[in-house]
Amino acid sequence: MMTIREIRHVIPSHATTDGAGVKIQRSIGASPMFRLDPFLMLDEFYSDNPDDYIAGFPSHPHRGFETVTYMLDGHMRHEDHLGNKGDLRAGDVQWMTAAHGIIHSEMPQQTEGRMRGFQLWINLPAAEKMKPAAWQDIPAATIPDVALEGAHVRVIAGLLSAGDREVSGPIHGVSTKPVYFDVVLEPNATFETDLPTGHSAFVYLYEGNAFVGERSAPLDLRAAATLGEGDRVRIKAGPQGASFLLLAAKPLNEPVVQYGPFVMNTREEIEQALSDYRDGTLAA
Ligand code: FE
Repeated sequence: MMTIREIRHVIPSHATTDGAGVKIQRSIGASPMFRLDPFLMLDEFYSDNPDDYIAGFPSHPHRGFETVTYMLDGHMRHEDHLGNKGDLRAGDVQWMTAAHGIIHSEMPQQTEGRMRGFQLWINLPAAEKMKPAAWQDIPAATIPDVALEGAHVRVIAGLLSAGDREVSGPIHGVSTKPVYFDVVLEPNATFETDLPTGHSAFVYLYEGNAFVGERSAPLDLRAAATLGEGDRVRIKAGPQGASFLLLAAKPLNEPVVQYGPFVMNTREEIEQALSDYRDGTLAA
């Protein structure tokens, strides 16, 4: 028997700044109480005013988790300590596994006066926090854009199973088995997909209006609505249509100790990350 997931908690987003003054809306991760294992943070950055982010995120470290950047509008130049460089365009994704350590800069840029994107932080299991760093830029053209009745779904990670369609995203080999869909619904259209039982899951509405589950509970704009147990998700757009991210992943159930851009299991490991960063061996 199918159980439709219902909204459990709503984590509103707060306007904040990060990097060199980039304006962002942070929902997941706005405080340590607002995590959803294994998700540590979700930021949305959007602006038509370049003063909001022109200085970007200059050189900064990460250790112990993964960052996933998805651009909707504008683009993002990035560069890391290994000499890797890239420029994420609208629709592109960067899946960066910081693990042992990465030091990089991220510079959002406008295209035709617009810039909009998301950065998600996903925790790594203890056994993988110190493996070598790796990243992949996934061009928009390699992300399946699945047309369903009244809906378009960009399948960035995980398996979309809707009606008679089964489509997998380009991301493989991540032990939290993430699901990352960007769904655009026409007015009053309904989207349904299977979602692995036991995965933590949430919906982030970034445009329009929509209702979740059999209770038709309304989603708040720019909030993360965490979902209760079940094996299926149903979201119905209101009269304005809806655009939202649907995210899910397997919880780690491990202790989380975070100090800014370092996320480990113990205080000692955080001390080690700080001293490695000072010594220049964090990202060696
Ligand atoms: Fe970063």
